[in-house]
Formats: sequence, C-alpha cells, structure tokens
Amino acid sequence: MTPAAFVRLDLEAVRHNLMQVKRYAPDNKIMAVIKANAYGHGMARVATALDLADGFAVARVDEGVRLRQAGFKQAITVLQGFVCVDELLQLLKFQLAAVIHTPQQIAILQQQADAEGKLAVWLKMDTGMNRLGFKGADFNAAYQQLLGCELVEQPINLITHFANADDLLDDKTRRQIDLFNDAVKDYPGACSIANSAGIIGWPNVRFGSTQDRASDWVRPGLMLYGCSPFAGKTGADFGLKPVMSLHSRLIAVKDVAAGETVGYSGTWQCQTATRLGVVSIGYGDGYHCHTKSGAPVLVNGQRVTLIGRVSMDMITVDLHSQPGVQPGDPVTLWGDGLPVEEIARHADTIPYTLLCGITQRVQVIEQGLGDGCAQTVASTS
Ligand SMILES: *Cc1c(COP(=O)(O)O)cnc(C)c1O
Repeated sequence: MTPAAFVRLDLEAVRHNLMQVKRYAPDNKIMAVIKANAYGHGMARVATALDLADGFAVARVDEGVRLRQAGFKQAITVLQGFVCVDELLQLLKFQLAAVIHTPQQIAILQQQADAEGKLAVWLKMDTGMNRLGFKGADFNAAYQQLLGCELVEQPINLITHFANADDLLDDKTRRQIDLFNDAVKDYPGACSIANSAGIIGWPNVRFGSTQDRASDWVRPGLMLYGCSPFAGKTGADFGLKPVMSLHSRLIAVKDVAAGETVGYSGTWQCQTATRLGVVSIGYGDGYHCHTKSGAPVLVNGQRVTLIGRVSMDMITVDLHSQPGVQPGDPVTLWGDGLPVEEIARHADTIPYTLLCGITQRVQVIEQGLGDGCAQTVASTS
C-alpha cells in the first residue's frame, strides 16, 4: 500500500530544467526564481539542486534571510525590495540585493546614508506591467538619485518585467523590450528582463547586441519546475521535465445507483449505475477545489475522471473503465504521465497556483541529486 497524500520531487529534473534554460539563453546569467517556497517545492532543497545557477531571486526580505541563514552564498535578489528601514538593514546585514521600484525606497536610502555596508540594487522600470517600477522620465530621475546614494553599490543594475510574454501574438512584449533597451542604453549596470515565457518565446530579447542588451540576466521561475508558461502546451514541448508529482491512494470503492448524486451539493448525478472510487486527496492538500468533473486522474497509472465536488480530504472518481481496482491502489493527481498544466486547465487556473498550493500535511519524497534513488521524507517548508 502507498502512503497517504505525498509529493515526489525529482531534483534531477530541476537540474535538467536549469540546463534547458542555459540552452535557451546561452549568453545570459541565470537568476533562478525560488520565491514562494520555490513555487511550493521547498526553497532550500531547490536552491541546493540549483547550485549551477548564477544567483537566486525571492519575492520578500524574509525569504532572502532564510536562504542566507541556510548557508547559501550566491547573489540573492529580493524582487520586492524593502518597505521600511528595518527591512533595509536586514538586506544590508544579509547581503541581499534589492529591487528599487518606488520613491519611498529612495527616500529611505537617503535617510540611512550612514548605515553600514553597501546595498546592491536593481532599479526597476515599469514598461507596461503597471505593477512595480518607475516610468519614463521618473526612471531616469530615480537613477540619478541612486547615483548620489552613499549606501548604494555601483553600478546600478536595471530590471523590468513582462506583462504578456506568454502571448506570442501580442506585440506589447516587443514594445516593453524597446522601451527598456532605450532607457538603459547609456547605463553601465547589468540588465534583466526575461521570465520563463520571455526566455522561451522571445529569443530576440536574449541575443542582444551591445545596443540591445536587455537581458544580461534571465529570471526563470516556472520552467525550472518543468512547466510550460504557454497555454495549451506542456513543459515536455520545450524539453522540460516535471519536478513535482502529487500522489495518493484509493480508500474506498463503491457502486451507486442511477439517479443518485455524488458529493456536496449533488453537482454530479449518475446517469447509469456507477462504480466510484474515493481518493484520499482534497483541497486541504492543495488539490484545487475548483477542479471540475471530467478532470483526469490516474488510478494504477490508468486515466479515470473526477466526478462531483472536491472535498477537503477526498475526491471521487468514476471507475467504470477500471472496475477491478481496490482500496489502497495508487493514484496520481498530476506529475508522472499527467501534466499539471492539464489539471490546471480543468481547474480554470494556471499551473503556478497548483504547485504553490501544496499544503503542510502532504508528505515529501525527494528523489535524485547524485545518490540515485535515495528518498527522504520531509516537509515542504
Ligand atoms: C516570479 C517572477 C519571475 C519568474 O517568472 P516565471 O513566469 O515563473 O518564469 C521573474 N521575474 C519577476 C519579477 C517575478 O516576480
């Protein structure tokens, strides 16, 4: 019998995916994005597997601090920078680089001119995402102000973020690239623009001439975890391998008469007599509660379909194609043979959400990293 809900994390796949990033972006440095607990995979274990990355990016100061405290020596960039003096002092203490995106941060830097250390910075331009960053003339003014900040390490690095790079037909991406390149062309710092969709989908960003050097550093997230940033595709289409697979087991098999409904609110009604299976997985584990009837589930490696609502601890599946299965038989919710991208479509969401959503009670089995099939059980945190 297999254990209750668990994820298997293939750390060799993380390494493989990093090598794919290098293949797509051979002339760039790689800032591996491991925010949000490495998209739910466990920040420290993923950082260990990514020892060949040139640096890491996290969203928040506390994530960067934890990475340093775990002993990682690489460059670490905090994508949201700091919002108060305390956070700035933490960045300095732990030698974390900050994204500077708002005038309040510059005011704090000016006030704290006497603080100890030097802060490496990435000045962020807002090229159309309209989330973080300075636009147009404000970007250049911010650059000049940072030049005058004692605390700021030179040169000032430059960063922007795509809003729509997963849509290859949207020329907004090209406009973002041009705006950024034009703004940074006279500045000596390193530049960074491309996320996973940019790396795979916009090769003209990567192979920049000296005039068009928008991505000295690329910032892959999703593709490191083996997923496609493009709708309708899977990671395999781009040479990527899934890192996470989510598993559980059947805990009951039963026959339900025609006309009966299954689960909360009776959203599924059996048209004929139905053999159904109950699987020990639910939204309490991170199996998305909006996954719809008809979503594929593997029982003993064979496809069956979800029926009825997802409960906290259980789902129900239609076993008519697999009448012989038994309680205890293994179930795969995504991963091996069942791309998480496909499950995301059935849940009206994106693979990012599913990967990030795995909860504490799900056991983790690590696989890979040189020691063959050595497996350890740990938590995702
Ligand atoms: C999350 C993030 C990334 C990585 O994006 P993916 O789509 O996962 O590759 C890159 N840059 C910034 C600023 C981000 O917030």
